[in-house]
Amino acid sequence: MKDNTKRADHIILASHNNLKFKETLPIHWGAKDPMARGPVVASNTNPKARNAIGTHSGSYTVYRALSIASGKFPALHRPDLHNTQSPVKIGPYPQWSDPLKMVALDPWGLDPQIHFKTRFEQGYDIRPTIAVTQAHLQIGEINEAIQAGRLPIDGKVVKENGDVRVTKVAIDPVWYLPGIAARLQVDEGELRRILFQETGGMYPEFITRPDLKVWLPPIGSSTAYIFGNAQDLANPAVELTCRVHDECNGSDVFGSDICTCRPYLMYGIEDAARTAQRGGVGIIVYYRKEGRALGEVTKFLVYNARKRQEGGDTAATYFRRTECVAGTEDARFQEFMPDCLHFFGISKIHNLHSMSNMKYDAIVKSGIEVVNRISIPAELIPEDAQVEMEAKKAAGYFSAESKKTVDDLRKVKGRAIDE
Ligand SMILES: [Zn+2]
Repeated sequence: MKDNTKRADHIILASHNNLKFKETLPIHWGAKDPMARGPVVASNTNPKARNAIGTHSGSYTVYRALSIASGKFPALHRPDLHNTQSPVKIGPYPQWSDPLKMVALDPWGLDPQIHFKTRFEQGYDIRPTIAVTQAHLQIGEINEAIQAGRLPIDGKVVKENGDVRVTKVAIDPVWYLPGIAARLQVDEGELRRILFQETGGMYPEFITRPDLKVWLPPIGSSTAYIFGNAQDLANPAVELTCRVHDECNGSDVFGSDICTCRPYLMYGIEDAARTAQRGGVGIIVYYRKEGRALGEVTKFLVYNARKRQEGGDTAATYFRRTECVAGTEDARFQEFMPDCLHFFGISKIHNLHSMSNMKYDAIVKSGIEVVNRISIPAELIPEDAQVEMEAKKAAGYFSAESKKTVDDLRKVKGRAIDE
């Protein structure tokens, strides 16, 4: 008997360019109506229905493959999406069909079983790329803010036991390649060629299937934490506090003191919750772009290079050391970051918690108004993180305080390495 849990061993090379099938649905990126736009079909259960390059779950694709290889995961499993839908209504917003605002995620990847109901009935295996749920946060620094009276217990945003109520939204990357190319101001063909080469030829379809315009890249997702009513994010009359935070595992999770990432994140959460308490809404968007998207291995090498250099770890040479090791000081491409804000219909941010000019410029350029920029309070900066902070301010990062001179920057020193 045929084993339905296994895929055929026969392999179809993606380099064949005759792989066009009648069951492949077209994608009209930017169409207002989801059925006219068409679902992104990137699951592997029916190769003939696929209309995108890559597949689901970002970097976890490889773990799924291992699980299938070990026999623990039925290759043809299809998710039962009953009761998985969002507990709050998000969108649709005009931004969802604006090809200039929406190129790095698929807004219709939220609850596709609702938007593409008839396609599910026809047997299409469409997977969600966005999911929404509700949670309570218990965080040491937030408890301290409650104890100190900075964040009152109101029974709504902050519960009696110190729990902070949030709505959290996980967003997997779905890239519309012509839009990505336009955002980077490069030719789409050139972008596809470089993506093919630099991933070691991982996706031949970049070259062989120019008709496939959507790619699910094997990279990390983004998560939004919303304090207050999620629908208020789209109302410019409601005060909005926002932090766009790039992952820093060492500080965010482990409390490493060489940077300001966790203190700034906690301050953002506290202020976002406080904004919700006074009738506004807060949002923290957390992007998996570790070490300025250069990765943690590069980051730790840079730390060593900074701390061992002649003259010690000073603010004057902070960015130069990253560039020496990595080839660039930053690989984050904030140009795609605002798409997550547009997903929530945001058009005005009253309080933006970020000192980064790259983030600020990307947000404003994407058409979102920013009223106030909030830098991290001086008392929250760890001693060893003064090097980073002063270097960033000198490089033009936003701060209410004045910049230091080069001579002063040489005096801002971090700890030496323990050898
Ligand atoms: Zn950090």
